[in-house]
Amino acid sequence: MTVGYKLQRRRLEVEGIVQGVGFRPFVHGLALRHGLGGFVLNTGRGVTIEAEGLRRELDAFAAALVEEAPPLADVRAVAQIALGTRGDRSFAIAPSVPGGGAAAVPADAATCADCLRELFDPADRRFRHPFISCTQCGPRFTIVQRVPYDRSNTTMASFAMCDACRVEYEDPADRRFHAEPIACPDCGPRLSMEVADAVAHLRDGAILAVKGLGGYHLACRAADEAAVARLRARKHREDKPFAVMTTAPGKLAHVDQTEAALLSCPPRPIVLLRARRGAPVAESVAPGSPWLGVMLPYTPLHHLLLADVGEALVMTSANRSDEPIAVGDDEARERLAGIADAYLAHDRPIHRRCEDSVVRREHVIRRSRGMAPRALELPVAARRPIVAAGAELKSTFCVAQGRDAFISPHLGDLDSEPAHRAFREDLALYLRMLDVRPAVVAHDLHPGYRSTLWAQEQDALLVGVQHHHAHAAACLAEHGREGPALALVFDGTGYGTDGTLWGGELLLCDLAGFERLAHLEPVPLPGGEAAIRQPWRVAAAYLERAGRPVPYERWPLVRQSLAVNAPTSSGMGRLFDAVAALVGLREEVSYEGQAAIELEQLAEGVAAAPYPCRFEEGVLHGADLVAAAHDDLAAGRDRAEVAAAFHEGVAEAAVVAAGTAAETGPRTVVLSGGTFQNLRLRDSVRAKLVGRGLEVLVHRQVPPNDGGISFGQAAVAARRTSSCA
Ligand code: ZN
Ligand code: ZN
Ligand code: FE
Repeated sequence: MTVGYKLQRRRLEVEGIVQGVGFRPFVHGLALRHGLGGFVLNTGRGVTIEAEGLRRELDAFAAALVEEAPPLADVRAVAQIALGTRGDRSFAIAPSVPGGGAAAVPADAATCADCLRELFDPADRRFRHPFISCTQCGPRFTIVQRVPYDRSNTTMASFAMCDACRVEYEDPADRRFHAEPIACPDCGPRLSMEVADAVAHLRDGAILAVKGLGGYHLACRAADEAAVARLRARKHREDKPFAVMTTAPGKLAHVDQTEAALLSCPPRPIVLLRARRGAPVAESVAPGSPWLGVMLPYTPLHHLLLADVGEALVMTSANRSDEPIAVGDDEARERLAGIADAYLAHDRPIHRRCEDSVVRREHVIRRSRGMAPRALELPVAARRPIVAAGAELKSTFCVAQGRDAFISPHLGDLDSEPAHRAFREDLALYLRMLDVRPAVVAHDLHPGYRSTLWAQEQDALLVGVQHHHAHAAACLAEHGREGPALALVFDGTGYGTDGTLWGGELLLCDLAGFERLAHLEPVPLPGGEAAIRQPWRVAAAYLERAGRPVPYERWPLVRQSLAVNAPTSSGMGRLFDAVAALVGLREEVSYEGQAAIELEQLAEGVAAAPYPCRFEEGVLHGADLVAAAHDDLAAGRDRAEVAAAFHEGVAEAAVVAAGTAAETGPRTVVLSGGTFQNLRLRDSVRAKLVGRGLEVLVHRQVPPNDGGISFGQAAVAARRTSSCA
């Protein structure tokens, strides 16, 4: 008898995203195929299997656990331990073992093709059932209250399964075997309004609040100019584009292969696409923007609504601008009073807030629904649990334990009271889900950020992380790197170690620390915050620095603020604002980054030689670029060419600075900060650096904007606390 025929028993501990994704039924089927006895069960840490059979079958079984895992699963580790045989011949799915741990709660998944077919099949018992789901799709993260992921630990606990559903739930051959949110018209949640009535409201031009997976949306017909304009006025949102939900993205926007794949990937994010001219979308959906945020329907209710309305809908988070999305039914009615005309709600509670994710081609702009709470791997393990409090705008927090870093969904801007409350509530939910008590709290250095103030109240080891170091660390860490590296970090505003505002930085850094090698020359921001809302003020400050005349009528008055309220800033975002104002794009902005986004659009597809910009003793003289732009405009040069020459000038200056440092320093350059969402700038800088033989790292999974700060803070804190006990 050869060894391969000997009976063995093993315990296999599987870690990763293995709950709520049909993993136990998959293991059951696999065990039958390999003639194994034993059991599988969910634990607080993942899935535990004990299997007994022929050794070669056990080996094949263990390999298949990883190689053939269901599409939504993400097996990160399989530990095997040899046990004594017990003579098990049959294989069972055993009851879950409760208990704390970091069992990865899966992300919410869009309605799968099988469920969709049943949804629209008049012969199916779930025909038009708005809560159809299976092991391959449906709500997860937003309904899970505790681990392990069992129905009793979700907001579906109060819905008693009917007999027909129970038969499916208990049948290992059924697609709904242990599908925890299983439901049908007899036993599932109920809508507060007939879909037909909701559709009638939309057709009448009403604004409809629709309860989704991670919160309420506000919906109206995307082609209805009056309705969209009313929504804008009621939401107090002037220009910031609304997202659109449609089953036919190609009718509204140009969609290439990459973008088509992004649209239909399981998280179903909002994808920024180039709008089609003459598309049936009201002008006020995305005023002045060639981009359109588009997503596919991702819940059965969305599919029913869109099929019955027969056209695209605006689907925007139900909140006032920059506040967190509304989740509770009473909360929604209270906060949406005066905004929504009608409510399409249901009685399945939302446990956790989770806004839609946003992506633009290669990078994530907002990492949220469908991506949270999937862990990212840190290059350095957190020896003790870390909470990183993040920044202030586009707030997220991050909880890290061991190698796993869990970035929270998007919370909005923390400077509003609802967002601040959401921060504290959501963090408490995360800590409970992960069964973690933070020992280390990482925070920004800005003394006025609410996240910093929160951190200072915590009974934990505090780790302050400079804003731009956190940006750079986020990019390094998402690539599994610790540095040292050079980092070009360009953004609007961040607090520097000298108490001034930074944002046009060249750093030499690793995860532990950084040195500021070079920066954009600081300019005063006349009127402080007012200068951020009114880019013409920054343009004026730059023109004075450049020794050029200032054309703005209000300048003599505003200029007086230089003496009393004019913090200096080296923010690259401010330089983009200034040039946007100069070329006449806009003198005031209604949302962060608006002027810079429009300047990028203006320059699109236009080639131009870079404007010169002096780089002397670690200082980039941004005013040189403003002077060149001013002189060209005065000479009547085309605005688009000026915008293009400015972009290339910034890129060239950045590359000269980084290239000089690389002569004696690291040969890797990280690009981070919100300004690098500008693809023209990013691609130009990257191409030039690569041309000099340097390695360039850009963001993919983690946002380059302040939504990625918490992850960077966690990576720095993990490194800095890695040697203490
Ligand atoms: Zn399904
Ligand atoms: Zn049922
Ligand atoms: Fe930033």
